[in-house]
Amino acid sequence: MKRYLLAPGPTPIPPEVLQAMALPIIHHRTPEYEAIFAEVRRDLRLLFQCQSEVLMFAASGSGAMEGAVVNTLSPGDQVVVIRGGKFGERWAEICEAYGVRVLPVDVPYGKSVEPASVAAVLQRDPAIKAVFATQSETSTGAVHDIQALAAIIRRTPAILVVDAVSSLGVMDLAMDAWGVDIVVAGSQKGLMLPPGLAFAALSERAWALVPGARLPKYYFNLAAERKAIEKNQSAYTPAVSLVVGLRESLRLILAEGLPNVFARHDRLARATRAGVQALGLELFADQPGCACTAVKAPAGIEGGAIVKGFRKRGITIAGGQASMKGKIFRIAHMGYVDGFDVLTVLGALELVLADLGYPVKLGEGVRAAEEILQK
Ligand SMILES: *Cc1c(COP(=O)(O)O)cnc(C)c1O
Repeated sequence: MKRYLLAPGPTPIPPEVLQAMALPIIHHRTPEYEAIFAEVRRDLRLLFQCQSEVLMFAASGSGAMEGAVVNTLSPGDQVVVIRGGKFGERWAEICEAYGVRVLPVDVPYGKSVEPASVAAVLQRDPAIKAVFATQSETSTGAVHDIQALAAIIRRTPAILVVDAVSSLGVMDLAMDAWGVDIVVAGSQKGLMLPPGLAFAALSERAWALVPGARLPKYYFNLAAERKAIEKNQSAYTPAVSLVVGLRESLRLILAEGLPNVFARHDRLARATRAGVQALGLELFADQPGCACTAVKAPAGIEGGAIVKGFRKRGITIAGGQASMKGKIFRIAHMGYVDGFDVLTVLGALELVLADLGYPVKLGEGVRAAEEILQK
């Protein structure tokens, strides 16, 4: 059976990247590795749209999230966390695990934060050290307006920390131009790599908090990593094969051009939305992002049954997490994905829904998507 991986991470990997990662391991303290590392450092800054070094860790994306917390805060510090899904909630869980006081700005699942509500909390309490946000809330498919949040937060003493794990290389995030202080990401979403690399980039404003941050840390010590990377080294053994693969995926992304990469994801997202809506289904997010489309399971059909129907046909999509379990299913269109992947998913969705007794006219979803893709 041919397999298709269209879940919101891990995502498919281009053959150029797979081939590079299959080469024999090289040692990381050699000129050969250092040449690769130098290229990766340069290209990561282009991808993050920042001047500062992008630090790399052998971890999943959550490792960089934890790194952002422990390197900028001290016990008892007060922060704002925008919670509108599993990943916003993760920021709060990490902060609470370290004794940081969290002022939550809660938005219902599927909704996006109203930037003015964050401004109101910041105004009430000038002691707030940081605001934690999620650009693409993968659990609901909703996008949060980071540019608008940055415009508010940069006028306050607080820093803005953004989880861009499922939006880096998918949607625009102009870190320096918008005034975002920390961007964290992972390898297994828009970067078209296997899981296992975490990234963090810090503005000068964020770096200024690092020396005074008293939360404990050892591996995720950003200052130590910055010292090493300035010598074109990493503090510890890097995930060599992933970094070798990263060079290839960055080459692919930059050859396509960032604006084209964002436009492609936007087109694929619009085609997917048009396809599911043409089948009479509803989107879960009010302001859906380009990484994945969350769809409400139709009345009387359990979301899990849809995911299972896909799996039976060799296609991996995702269901809902936590309280969204059974109520939604999620189709990813990020990374190494094109219009034919979208058509495959929609064709399969029609068959799966028909199997489950949902009234569908075969071809209607595919046709709606094709009309978008043809433009
Ligand atoms: C995937 C993801 C993460 C990180 O998850 P890991 O499993 O730790 O890589 C964090 N935030 C968002 C928005 C994600 O999509």
